[in-house]
Amino acid sequence: LSDKLDSALKSVTGQGRINELNIAETMREIRRALLNADVNYKVARDITDRVKEKATGDEVLQSVTPGEQLTKIVYDELTRVLGGEHVGLNMADHPPTVILVAGLQGSGKTTFVAKLAKHLRSKGHAPLLAAADVYRPAAVDQLRTLADQVGVPVYSVEDDGQIVQDAVRVADEAVAHAKQKARDVVIIDTAGRMHVDEAMMKEVADIKGAVDPNEILFVVDSMTGQDAVNTAKEFNEQLDFDGVVLTKLDGDTRGGAALSIRTVVEKPIKFASTGEKLDALSEFYPDRMAQRILGMGDVVSFVERAQEQYDEEQAQQLKQKIKSDDFDLQDFYDQLQRIQNMGSMKDLIGMIPGVGSQMKDLDLDEDAFKHIEAMILSMTPEERSNPQILNGTRRRRIAKGSGVEVRDVNQLIKQFRDMKKMMKTMSKLTGQGRSMNLKK
Ligand code: GDP
Ligand code: MG
Repeated sequence: LSDKLDSALKSVTGQGRINELNIAETMREIRRALLNADVNYKVARDITDRVKEKATGDEVLQSVTPGEQLTKIVYDELTRVLGGEHVGLNMADHPPTVILVAGLQGSGKTTFVAKLAKHLRSKGHAPLLAAADVYRPAAVDQLRTLADQVGVPVYSVEDDGQIVQDAVRVADEAVAHAKQKARDVVIIDTAGRMHVDEAMMKEVADIKGAVDPNEILFVVDSMTGQDAVNTAKEFNEQLDFDGVVLTKLDGDTRGGAALSIRTVVEKPIKFASTGEKLDALSEFYPDRMAQRILGMGDVVSFVERAQEQYDEEQAQQLKQKIKSDDFDLQDFYDQLQRIQNMGSMKDLIGMIPGVGSQMKDLDLDEDAFKHIEAMILSMTPEERSNPQILNGTRRRRIAKGSGVEVRDVNQLIKQFRDMKKMMKTMSKLTGQGRSMNLKK
């Protein structure tokens, strides 16, 4: 049990300080994670630079380890870079709302158009899809098939069974048709090419000119990494789009393209697509993507809960007590309470990356905590602050009062002494000085 307590207390009292060594290490780790997640090198460097700066000015909360606190700073920074808040679609004051969807071939436009129709239908809208990808008959068929699954109509222009190759006309007529049929949203699916080219850009720009959309969405395959960023830039220069749709986030990619795109084009990411199925679409939330990029499990909620449970003043007092050797059984008891208030031990420890996996097999005995509590509660205040007065008679009384054996009381006292020694050594090792001792 001593080991378990040890780890628990270490994670809660924050045994270390952020110093130059561990911040450099952590920054390296974070930068590596960002690069692995396809974040552009310059963007990754800007992020770590800003995090370093923020960490320097930040007081270290003693309730979490410095690494965890840094992770939280990084997470906040990523969320900020990703746009902070979720941004929704621009809807027209007078329907129909016109949404123009553009992007390279294979990026997932047609699939997205159907998904968006489904999403909007579930919110009570009545979409109409415009088949403005007029060059391949298969494209119109694909849109029809998907639209059937969603139960929304498709507008296309045919002459003698032949598709009329006039994308602007399709878009324009679809909007007029929607007005007639009281459809309140028109989603225009357009043609893409393998690479950005003038003809494609001109066509999309012409559609934009003709229908004056409320929303232009740029669809991009997140698997294409750095190419996605360049494509986004070119489309934005030509179209000045309103929002980005990231597709294929179900693949190996960890979403770093999102960070880079957001930084480069300064337009909000509005949707994320995570599969071929029509319900694999979600509204984009920067905080969730930040978590995904960091791949850090629930560390953020751990840090947040720790912060709630533990204010800095208490932490300072505790530090002082440890330093001056005043840490007593009452303080020990308070710590245990705090740990338990934070939730089940197993849950909490499981949330800490690294530690979580090491401790997985360890069966944390929450009953043991209860016994320790009972023993401390059976002590008089004087005994709690002066454990050395605990002679045989007192120990027997405490054992009886808390329903344990005398040897359990002995063990607790021994553990407490060992822990105190260890805490003292640690507080000496970490020394004096500012909590964040780091140069840029
Ligand atoms: P378009 O050429 O831009 O219209 O792209 P499509 O909508 O036809 O999609 C191209 C391919 O990507 C199709 O096979 C889709 O099923 C697939 N696809 C689209 N979105 C996703 C996604 O989010 N995840 C995965 N795994 N596949 C997708
Ligand atoms: Mg298509």
